[in-house]
Amino acid sequence: MTLLTFRFAPSPNGELHLGHAYSALLNQQMAARAGGRLLLRIEDIDIARCTPEFEAGIFHDLKWLGLGWEEPVRRQSEHFAEYRAVLDRLIVEELVYPGFMSRGEIRAFIAETGGRDWPRDPDGVPLYPSLDKALSMKERKRRIAENIPFAWRLDVEAATARMSGALSWFEFTDETMTATHTVEAKPQAWGDVIVARRDIPTSYHLAVVVDDALQGVSHVVRGQDLYAATGVQRLLQELLGLSPPRYFHHRLILGPDGRKLSKSLKDTGLAALRHAGMSPQDVRRLVGL
Ligand code: GLU
Repeated sequence: MTLLTFRFAPSPNGELHLGHAYSALLNQQMAARAGGRLLLRIEDIDIARCTPEFEAGIFHDLKWLGLGWEEPVRRQSEHFAEYRAVLDRLIVEELVYPGFMSRGEIRAFIAETGGRDWPRDPDGVPLYPSLDKALSMKERKRRIAENIPFAWRLDVEAATARMSGALSWFEFTDETMTATHTVEAKPQAWGDVIVARRDIPTSYHLAVVVDDALQGVSHVVRGQDLYAATGVQRLLQELLGLSPPRYFHHRLILGPDGRKLSKSLKDTGLAALRHAGMSPQDVRRLVGL
């Protein structure tokens, strides 16, 4: 029998907070109950915002919490060549195109077209106007050669046209993993999402599906805030021929104001709680474990 494989995949672009603690501890608990493996993956593709100090803080906080994981830890910034190879496949298959519009240009275009009803993605960001899709190969090459900034965007229309049937994923109904239900994936909700940057040959979505498959992750346990993103990730898995894991999107730990915790909320940071005298048991209790 193959072992079930879980992973906790934080980004070292800030300090871990109670929400991360819940996610990490829940992964640990579910892996232990299933007699499975727990991996830790450092998602540091955003080399401008991720720092070695934040990474060291993550290791420190997780050890303090009593988390154990398999070595070696995969650090995404060390695998750009692998993501580049996958991106190249998507380019050759014409499933991505270079999008040259800056945020300001997108905003201006939408305003000009009277865009009150312009569709927005599940995070509330206006969808990318897919004008650049119509650019000729020659024009694309000219702009790239002239160093005009761009990002590789998924041609979601072309991509979904490749799918033979409905796209879905298996979602556990709770952490006991006794039942799953099928969720319909809606990648179109995100429009032509960024799959890679000009200088970084991947995005969160691409790296996460490549790594989950490469590391044999069978169970993705992560926050409810990534539920809708799973739609895009399922589409990428299909395009790349990667077999999908099962998912459990857990409840989010909210702040006293009822809002999602953010990395700038210092008072719920694990380091701050530790310095205030809290124990790992206190943290468990706070997150309801
Ligand atoms: N690196 C992502 C984050 O810190 C999590 C990715 C995932 O679990 O799929 O929000």
